[in-house]
Amino acid sequence: MKKCPFCAEDIQDKAIKCKHCGEFLTASPPREAEDKTPWYFKKSTIIIALASVGPLALPLIWWHPQTSIAWKIGLTIGILILSWVLYQTTMQFIHTLQEYYKLLDSL
Ligand SMILES: [Zn+2]
Repeated sequence: MKKCPFCAEDIQDKAIKCKHCGEFLTASPPREAEDKTPWYFKKSTIIIALASVGPLALPLIWWHPQTSIAWKIGLTIGILILSWVLYQTTMQFIHTLQEYYKLLDSL
């Protein structure tokens, strides 16, 4: 005896059609809410990509089939602004460091 994958009733091992629900057992059983999104389109992957390579991960958003055009534009602008701010902060930091080293040199 085995269990029918469709209705969970006991059926014969050699049965090709369930006598309880009438489903054919040759067909693959229904999978539970299968996530068909490939790994490179997963939100977590995109977030990690954005965090590590910044604007270079933008193509992932643009290729994403389930993202609306408004979201794509919004995200792109947001990421570009964020990258710009980060760039400015980094440059400011480097500048401050250089000033600091200059101060040290003059001592
Ligand atoms: Zn069945």
